[in-house]
Amino acid sequence: MVMGPTHAMSGAAVGLAVAQILPAEWGGVTTATEAFIYAGLAAGAALLPDLDSPQATVSRSFGPITQVISRFTENICQTFVNVTRGRKDKHCNNGHRTLTHTVWSAAATGAGATALIGAYGKPAVIGLLFFFLGLAIRGLMPEWSKNADWLLVTGASAALAVGVWNYAPESSFGIVLGSAITVGSLTHLAGDMATKAGIPAFAPVIPLKGKRWWNLKLPKFLSIRANGPADKFLLFVFSVAVIIQIGLVSSGNMSTIMMNLLSPAL
Ligand SMILES: [Zn+2]
Repeated sequence: MVMGPTHAMSGAAVGLAVAQILPAEWGGVTTATEAFIYAGLAAGAALLPDLDSPQATVSRSFGPITQVISRFTENICQTFVNVTRGRKDKHCNNGHRTLTHTVWSAAATGAGATALIGAYGKPAVIGLLFFFLGLAIRGLMPEWSKNADWLLVTGASAALAVGVWNYAPESSFGIVLGSAITVGSLTHLAGDMATKAGIPAFAPVIPLKGKRWWNLKLPKFLSIRANGPADKFLLFVFSVAVIIQIGLVSSGNMSTIMMNLLSPAL
């Protein structure tokens, strides 16, 4: 596993970039504030798949509440694997890195968030923001703050969500924000795919040699070790990308740059 800070920071960096190129037919991301909300959701969603591990730091984001969600998720995932496994898949004793680490789960959580925002609008965005900022803050916190700070995390994400509720322009709560959950989750999957074990990205829909829960991974020479030099380097790169993009989005130049970058390809 790539470490939490790298996951959260990569989600923010990818979220900020993707926010600029969303098609106008989806409503697009129209304001700088909306781009930042999008990035906040994506940063938190970049930790969402690891809610399948009660031991993961992210599962302590909201103390006992996320611990219960996490145990429940791990059990459901484990059962799901055992029900859907192919003849060559081993019996699953731990649901970590299974169902929540598939592209289907990334698509479904984004669709769920989109449906919520479609039905309830601004309150749904604020609720999602509260939850995902909690995950993002926890992901960014260094290891040493592991234990007794969940109330602090909850307070901080609540304060940020209330701030957005009060000060963000009304045009910042588009239904398009739901896609940030898929974007963040896919960023997590890309990060985990770069580690030795890989992830079952297409399980159980696409079988391979009698296995339904086979892991997709990068070639060995490209795989990285959690908390190793490559992980730290990636964290540095994504942090710089986030800082530069925050400046560009605030000054209103980011979408022109993204469009220019993409135009040769179009
Ligand atoms: Zn993971």
